[in-house]
Amino acid sequence: MRAYAVKMFCEPLAPIEQPDPQPAGTEVVIDVTRCGVCHSDLHIQDGYYDLGGGKRLSLADRGVSTPVIMGHEVLGRLVAKGPDAPIADSEIGKTFLVYPWLGCGTCEICRRDEENYCPKPASLGVFRSGGYAEKCVVPHPKHLVDVTGIDPTLAATYACSGITAYSALTKIDIDKDNETLLIMGLGGVGMSGLQIAHALGFRNIVVADIDAGKRELAIANGARDAIDPRSADAAAKLAEAGGAAGAVDFVGAKPTAEFAIAALRKGGTYVVVGLFGGDITLSIPPIVLRAITIRGSYVGNLRELKELIALVRAGKVKPMPVETVSFNGVNDALDRLRAGKVQGRLVIAR
Ligand SMILES: [Zn+2]
Ligand SMILES: [Zn+2]
Repeated sequence: MRAYAVKMFCEPLAPIEQPDPQPAGTEVVIDVTRCGVCHSDLHIQDGYYDLGGGKRLSLADRGVSTPVIMGHEVLGRLVAKGPDAPIADSEIGKTFLVYPWLGCGTCEICRRDEENYCPKPASLGVFRSGGYAEKCVVPHPKHLVDVTGIDPTLAATYACSGITAYSALTKIDIDKDNETLLIMGLGGVGMSGLQIAHALGFRNIVVADIDAGKRELAIANGARDAIDPRSADAAAKLAEAGGAAGAVDFVGAKPTAEFAIAALRKGGTYVVVGLFGGDITLSIPPIVLRAITIRGSYVGNLRELKELIALVRAGKVKPMPVETVSFNGVNDALDRLRAGKVQGRLVIAR
């Protein structure tokens, strides 16, 4: 089979040929028909996360070794199963979305299906081969999610951008009718977040983005207000209006974190999911005096993916913009994403 792999960090993906995978044990093989192109692929391609202050978190140190076949928004046809895979033969040929945030599969955390918190991650497209390939091996059929009735291009995006937004938003416990939810950044995940926030019942959403076009898009998609966080009085205005009860930061950079934390009301919660990078300095007494919560959220678990898919199936999540690109055009897609020129999500189709 053909695949595109990071052979050397910081270089374009290279086409490689591998033997077709033969499933062993409980494994199943997916013939990949869609794979979303995610911003975090750029970090994997670079080989590090920016920690700020000139420090880097190296992916090689985290156990990522080249060549890496990236791609973690994988959807495709089930074409083969291992001898111990607990799935009926009649399921062969059906299309599934793959839950990619795998762990070791055996620890306590994995056994309660919180594999995204496993200390030994085995995520598809990061630690294991992912979907920038013709075929993808999944260790167990329980990670296949039925998405019948959902457009496959759109469905693929729920495995990362969707689940990440969903899991972060469910960490915000506020009066959804009256209190303000602040969304920082309307990139692929942020846009998905805005749609899912509506589906979860948040009625009072303010979006902050430095891009005027994305602010317009936010208003067109039902945000109450869209602000430029660089304008001097934006945070103060939000605070005057009572402040944000919850904020989800889909960028995760120094300015977005500082802005969102400053905009919180007392007792508010800031959830960061973006991995842009950088660092912030926080005075400790205001954290106490304002009784704020600062927490991270990393992708989501299998239960959350299934809950999200149920919301989508119920017609509650407005589809976000998706654009298909060719399998052989994966490097172009990554370059476009790096240049920040993408509204919504690019999805490889084959
Ligand atoms: Zn992703
Ligand atoms: Zn585990």
